[in-house]
Amino acid sequence: PTTLLWFRRDLRLHDHPALLAARDAAGPEGDVVPVFVFDDRLYGPSGEPRRRFLLDCLTALDADLDGALVLRSGDPAEVLPGLAWEVAASSVHVSADTGPYGRRRDDAVEQALGDVPLVRTGSPYLVTPGRVTTRTGTPFQVFSPFARAWREHGWRAPAGSPDGVRWRTGVRSDAPPPAPDLGDVVLPPAGEQAALAAWAQFRDERLSGYDEGRNTPGTNGTSRLSPYLKYGCLHPRTLVADLAGEPTEAVRRYTDELAWRDFYADVLWHRPESAREYLKPELQGMGYDSGPDAEALVRAWETGRTGFPIVDAGMRQLLGEAYVHNRVRMIVASFLVKDLHQEWTRGARYFMQHLVDGDLASNQHGWQWVAGTGTDASPYYRVFNPITQGKKFDPDGAYVKRWVPELRDLDPKHVHEPWTAPGGIPAGYPEPVVDHAHERQVSLDRYARVRAG
Ligand code: FAD
Repeated sequence: PTTLLWFRRDLRLHDHPALLAARDAAGPEGDVVPVFVFDDRLYGPSGEPRRRFLLDCLTALDADLDGALVLRSGDPAEVLPGLAWEVAASSVHVSADTGPYGRRRDDAVEQALGDVPLVRTGSPYLVTPGRVTTRTGTPFQVFSPFARAWREHGWRAPAGSPDGVRWRTGVRSDAPPPAPDLGDVVLPPAGEQAALAAWAQFRDERLSGYDEGRNTPGTNGTSRLSPYLKYGCLHPRTLVADLAGEPTEAVRRYTDELAWRDFYADVLWHRPESAREYLKPELQGMGYDSGPDAEALVRAWETGRTGFPIVDAGMRQLLGEAYVHNRVRMIVASFLVKDLHQEWTRGARYFMQHLVDGDLASNQHGWQWVAGTGTDASPYYRVFNPITQGKKFDPDGAYVKRWVPELRDLDPKHVHEPWTAPGGIPAGYPEPVVDHAHERQVSLDRYARVRAG
């Protein structure tokens, strides 16, 4: 028999349970048709960096498949049944998609396939969303107890080697959409081999310092694997298997970050509406700013011209690398919501437009966490101070100087407060667009009001 392997967020050949399921269903004499479908409802709104990275990952995957990858464009509920009929496929294999759109789409594809089964094997997560629950079977609302139960649940060993697959060649492809020109934006190299190389380098050279390094944006302290995990160029199972037997603090911490990724996917699985709606609905009535002045402030934020160096560095990193360090994501998000009084959904949208690792679960819930509307257990309203955060996490100003050339000549002790420099704010760099202490109070007052009903 012939089977179809429909690639989505699993653009790799190793540690790929659905690939092995497609091979085994095809049997020793059968072959497997590997296909990717450009679906306008997902691909269109992706933002240029992600579209470009995805196209590059597909090129790498096709090379790893010796040119066998079939590209098709259109509604998967029409494309897959058509292709299954064309190649006489007896089953279609996928890694489960647990996001709101993916679930609806897969149900529609399953129906449209009729007698040809859609077989879901594995997911992009260590533990498939929905599997870890409290003792009474309800979903976890906060991270720490989830992470404990998640570790107790454990995960499978990596899937075996993809040897023995007979990839069918010569099946017609549609032309891929044109690759966006990103100008000066620098993306990481795409594909499974690049992902594995990036992992090996991090594991060997930087993992031991991760506990510290993860909080210093001026050093290359994190793994930078997020775009690869997003598109499944590698699976997190591969990483934790590689770390087995190394219970160091750094390894524990790194595994915890992978648990955050699983946690947010779990939250989205249980509450798909949380991609847009507040997890804490009582905060729905927070007042936000609008009008021309508010819009000008948002533009200053978007372009990295707020006059707060760590915020500007972060927003310029977003435009320059389609990536922002995690600590700085929290700082810039807090600034938009709590200093500029904009709704978190607006910042989340902007991030999704520009991030190469933009991921609905991690991004929307990361924003909700910072906005205080999400899965945060903290009983108080957290407002990041961009100046003290900058001094604490970028003490020598290396991160700011990298992204804000106007401040390169400043002594480190003035970098996060350029208005204290002996010569004043360097030419070309803006004055702070707001008074942080004042805006913080405005935010706290609005919070108190909405809490009081
Ligand atoms: P590392 O520190 O090396 O961590 C390893 C992996 O763990 C990451 O690749 C990621 O998959 C996962 N991880 C780490 N931290 C988190 C976290 N807080 N939440 C969920 N997963 C995590 N991450 C995304 O992948 N896509 C997003 O769109 C995204 N948007 C975010 C928006 C905001 C406002 C915030 C505060 C965080 C967001 N994150 C997002 C989480 C985090 O910032 C990135 O995963 C991380 O910076 C990626 O860099 P890294 O691979 O070097 O991380």
